[in-house]
Amino acid sequence: MTEIYSHSRLSTFENCRKKFEFRYVLGLPEDSEGVEAFVGKRVHEVLERLYEFVGRQQLPKLEQVISRYNANFDAQYDPERIRIVKSGLDKDFYRALGVRCLSNFYRRHYPFDADETLGLEQRVSFNLDESGEYVMQGIVDRIVRARDGAIEIQDYKTGSWIPTQSKLDQDRQLALYQIGVAAEYGAGEPIRLVWHYLAKDKICSSTRNPEELEVLKQDVIGLIDEIRATREFPAKKNALCNWCGYKGYCPAFGGQIPASHDATATATTATTTAATTAATTAATTAKTRPPTPASELG
Ligand code: SF4
Repeated sequence: MTEIYSHSRLSTFENCRKKFEFRYVLGLPEDSEGVEAFVGKRVHEVLERLYEFVGRQQLPKLEQVISRYNANFDAQYDPERIRIVKSGLDKDFYRALGVRCLSNFYRRHYPFDADETLGLEQRVSFNLDESGEYVMQGIVDRIVRARDGAIEIQDYKTGSWIPTQSKLDQDRQLALYQIGVAAEYGAGEPIRLVWHYLAKDKICSSTRNPEELEVLKQDVIGLIDEIRATREFPAKKNALCNWCGYKGYCPAFGGQIPASHDATATATTATTTAATTAATTAATTAKTRPPTPASELG
């Protein structure tokens, strides 16, 4: 049986094996969600919707975009589940953060005709090896044909921290997506990795050559081998524990897995079979989602 790996799955293993066990071995749902992740999801879904309308030559006003964001924020904000970790900050602060991200993006890119959208929230699946034993997948926020002809793999960030250029030049997530996008659009296409740091209204980019991608593949294959051989999943306290959705279950903080959790059943759903893998290998397919009716503009 071959599991499909993602950047998130690899990172979770690297950061804390107990969290990896909760999520990917036991399939345990998180008991809470950090407010930063919540805002990020609301911003992503509104930007996806914005470009759906742009693709239909229906350009919403900024006020309509913000109105949609606020409506989604209110409809999905559950104070019992959303956790605000940083002291002195509240729901209104984080709501305003999303408004700032969207306003910055809208004003910088209006009227959204500088490039061509090739994919929105697009799933990319690809093999790291010839035999199909090491399979990765991910979701790209937006795939673009830029004016200079290059394909851009674009990623939206709502956090305020901006990595250095050397960090971005080593970023694993978008580089992995490049392998999948190249398989779909052709290995000879020039590809650029682009990050939109929305809160700071800053755009950063990087590129990878074939040799760097080959090294990356071998590194990730080695990491997947390590994951497959792992039988012990100790907790590793770290700076992100307060944002961990399993903290309430974590033995490092006196927690335990709820008795209601059926580990056997969920562990089965947490894995993906080789048959599924074969169906998705080296393919890039848009998520199936019904189009948003024009009457819901903004
Ligand atoms: S709370 Fe920290 S130590 Fe516990 S599972 Fe989460 S990340 Fe790991």
